[in-house]
This record gives sequence, C-alpha cells and structure tokens, in this order.
Amino acid sequence: MSAHHHERTRRTVGGDRGGQASADVIVVGAGPAGSTAATYLARAGLDVLVLEKSAFPREKVCGDGLTPRAVKQLIDLGIDTREEAGWLHNKGLRVLGGGLSVELPWPELTSFPPYGLVRPRRDFDQMLADHARAAGARVEEQTAVSGALTDERTGRVVGVEARRGPEREAVTYRAPLVVAADGVGARTALSRGIGKRDDRPLGVAVRRYYTSPRSDDDFLETHLELWDRSGETKRSGARPDRADQDRLLPGYGWVFGMGDGTANVGLGILDQSNATGSNYRAMLRAWCDSLPAEWGFTEENAVNEIGGAALPMGFNRTPVYADGLLLVGDAGGMVNSFNGEGIAYAMQSAALAAEAVLQARARSEGPARERALEGYPAAVRAELASYYRLGNRFAHALRHPWLVQYTARHGLPRQALMRFLLKLLANLHDRRDGDVSDRLLELLLRLTPQLPDAPPSVGRPARHARPTTRSASGRDRAA
Ligand SMILES: Cc1cc2nc3c(=O)[nH]c(=O)nc-3n(C[C@H](O)[C@H](O)[C@H](O)COP(=O)(O)OP(=O)(O)OC[C@H]3O[C@@H](n4cnc5c(N)ncnc54)[C@H](O)[C@@H]3O)c2cc1C
Repeated sequence: MSAHHHERTRRTVGGDRGGQASADVIVVGAGPAGSTAATYLARAGLDVLVLEKSAFPREKVCGDGLTPRAVKQLIDLGIDTREEAGWLHNKGLRVLGGGLSVELPWPELTSFPPYGLVRPRRDFDQMLADHARAAGARVEEQTAVSGALTDERTGRVVGVEARRGPEREAVTYRAPLVVAADGVGARTALSRGIGKRDDRPLGVAVRRYYTSPRSDDDFLETHLELWDRSGETKRSGARPDRADQDRLLPGYGWVFGMGDGTANVGLGILDQSNATGSNYRAMLRAWCDSLPAEWGFTEENAVNEIGGAALPMGFNRTPVYADGLLLVGDAGGMVNSFNGEGIAYAMQSAALAAEAVLQARARSEGPARERALEGYPAAVRAELASYYRLGNRFAHALRHPWLVQYTARHGLPRQALMRFLLKLLANLHDRRDGDVSDRLLELLLRLTPQLPDAPPSVGRPARHARPTTRSASGRDRAA
C-alpha cells in the first residue's frame, strides 16, 4: 500500500510551486492525536496523508506522564506497553499537600489497566508516528500547514495549504476531509475562524528535566500546594503558612522520575492573563527552590532550559466538527480541566473522529454523510461533556488556592475519600457494573448537565465565519 502511495505522491507533487497531492483524509500534525487518527484510518484502508511541521525525533514540552486512561488508548491502538518494550511503569499517584504524603494506587477497574507509564515525548511521539506509518499512513515531516483550503462555492474544507521542506516550498494538498491535530496553536482551525473560547479555562504548564536521585519512582508524584516563596521569607526559611509574603499559586506541581537518572519537574497553573512566560519560569524556579535540597532541582543539575505551553482545557475550541474539518486533541481544547492531562484525550478524541470518518465514508455524499460526521461532536460530548463541565467548575475553584489547601489538609488523611477523588480527578471509573464509588461518580455525571455547545454570546458561532481567503489568515478570537 505505501509503495503505491509513494508512487502517487511523486507524480502529483512536483517540485513546482502550487504542486498538488490528494488523499482520502489529511491529518494535520503527528502528535498523539494525529498519529492515532491516522493509524485507525489507514488500518481501515483509507489513503491517509499526515503533514507534520517538525522532523522526528523532536522534543515536545510535556510532563511525560501517562495515566491508565492513556495506557488504555495505547493498548487499543495495538502498542506493546510492557516494560520489555521500553516503558517505565507506575503503580499510582503520590499526592503531597498540607504536610502529608499519600500514595494512591491506580484503581482496580474493568475499563482501565491498573498501571500508568512514563516515556519522554521525544521518543513517544516518534513511536506513534512510526505506528501510523506501519499501518499504511503517509507521514510527511517538515511540512507546515498554513491553513485550510476552502471551496469558495460550498464553503467546505477541501484540503490544506502548506510549506514543505527546508526551502519552504508552497504545496496544496486536497482531501474531502481534514483532521486538525495541530495542537494548541490550532493553525488549521484558526484559518477557518474557529477561535478559542474565553468562557472555558486555559492553563499554562512549564517543565524542566533535572539530573536527580528522584529518577527512580514507581509512583507519579503531584504536589497540591504550590508555594511561591520568592519573597524574603524564602531565604529566611520560614514555614510557608507563617510567612506573609508567601503566596499559594492556583495550580499543582509534579515530579515524574524518568528512570534514566533524570526527573521531569514542572507545574501547571491556571492562566493568569497578566503573567508572562518569564513569570511562569520564575514560578518553577521558585517552587524548585522550596523543595528538599537533596532532590537536586538546581540550576547546576538542569538538563535543559525551562519549556512551557498552554493547556487548552474543557472544550475550549468549538465546534469540533464543521464543514469537513474535525478538531482533535489540543486543537479541539480536549485537555482535562481537573488534572491537565492531555494525551489520553488527544488519543480518545482522535479515535472517535476516525470512527465518524469511517462511517461517513461508507455513505453517499450529502446529508447522510454529514450526519455521520456530526456523530463525532456527539460522541465526544457523550463521553466528556458532563465530566468537563464538572472539571471546568473545579478549575474555577482552583482560583482559590486556600480551598485546595483546606481540602489537602482535611482530605489527604482520609484514604477512602482520596481514592474516590483520584477516580474523579483522573477520570477513571467503570461506567457499568462498578463498585459504590463508581456508581456514585456515574450518578454525579448523569446529574451534571453537559457543557453547552454554543458559546454564551448571542453572536454567531465561529463555524459560520468562513474566510474566503485560501490561506491561513484567521486570527485567534474569542467565540
Ligand atoms: C508542560 C506540559 C506538561 C504536560 N504534561 C502532560 C502529562 O504529563 N501527561 C499528559 O497526558 N499531558 C500532558 N500535557 C498535555 C499534552 O502535552 C497535550 O495535551 C498533548 O500533547 C496533546 O496532543 P496533540 O496530539 O493534540 O497535540 P501535540 O502533541 O501538540 O501535537 C501537535 C503536532 O502537530 C504539529 N503541528 C503543529 N502545527 C502544525 C502545522 N501548522 N502544520 C503541521 N504540523 C503542525 C506539531 O509539530 C506536533 O507534532 C502537558 C502539557 C504541557 C505544556
């Protein structure tokens, strides 16, 4: 299959400006979302073209932690997740707060495996892209999509425009369906006027690798209380709760041992629109300074510079399907607003999008096909919209860090309560035939109305804003 594809690519994409290539489906971006969608689609026999702006192996700023929810997605995709295959397994989450440290094993469930994983994204993303290639997808690296190609007559997306290779040669690719998996930058969606929503939370996360004795750990570690002790008190060594100048930040920190002599240390925080990138880097440094010296999170032990990116949470970009364009993963604002986890949801939304595309392809063009494609937003909503509504409220509550502190102090000593909270925060429960806590969670979700699809303003939703220009001219604007 791939030999045939390569043949066709060579014929249709010449070296000239404006050369064209076609596929059944174009996937923009080969992160976890893009590679997952591409694998399912190619495996079902579709001609899938993945356009990725970088060249593998490449870094991606991330905590590198995978909960059982993400592991389930990997298993579904047919990835070997055994330790022998290079994965670092973990047993659960260690939560620190209010002077306490509690180890919570991942729950025993029918729907999810009882272990999580750690793997650097540099390696992880390449592995997933190779998996998509092995399934028959054509993955073209160093090809940066500049925007969706719109049929001016119908208003539908009929491909993308891109710049390819070191020469940045202009290329047009055509396909009746485009899956935008281009991450938080969401270039493709923006070119269609689909901006991010201001009524949904946006987080920011920063991380750095340190050489550290904390490298071997079979728990993922999170710190609920994030102290900014950059005031004088930091140096005087006063206890945070007694120091007036210390500040509790609205977010949480993590220390994930990478098993190779380093640890991934970072923090996720709700976007404080007045904070700049350097503020977030300063917060990470300040927090590292407040951690035990023997962990070694110092400048001398730092392996790289601090990297950061936004966390688009709780469906902060909608609609996730319109006019031939499906948004998956970060491009569709799929990060869990409870815990900042994004990989599992990138993969899950991609799997749901692939399913809708396959169903659509088996129908005749027109309303029947459109109805199948509308099955994608319906499916993500059914899976996640109530949960994300709760999560968005939770994120709102995080703006009052004292509440987190209070909960940590009073909740952490209560094992049963913490096990329940772990299920809630990591979105891990059996939806059918579960135990009491699973049934309680399911009830809570049923009682929570789904997040509304339409933005709160009376104005037109962005889906009808169709720039007629064929290149990326969309600007990020709130719905
Ligand atoms: C500091 C930090 C820590 C995090 N920690 C975790 C964690 O521990 N666990 C977890 O589950 N999640 C974590 N997340 C979230 C997670 O990184 C994202 O949710 C996840 O990467 C989303 O996957 P994706 O495939 O949607 O997008 P990405 O992983 O962003 O992939 C997008 C791909 O598209 C490519 N691309 C972008 N624009 C274009 C274009 N115009 N043309 C062609 N290609 C393009 C990019 O090069 C990239 O390969 C963290 C995020 C941050 C910032």
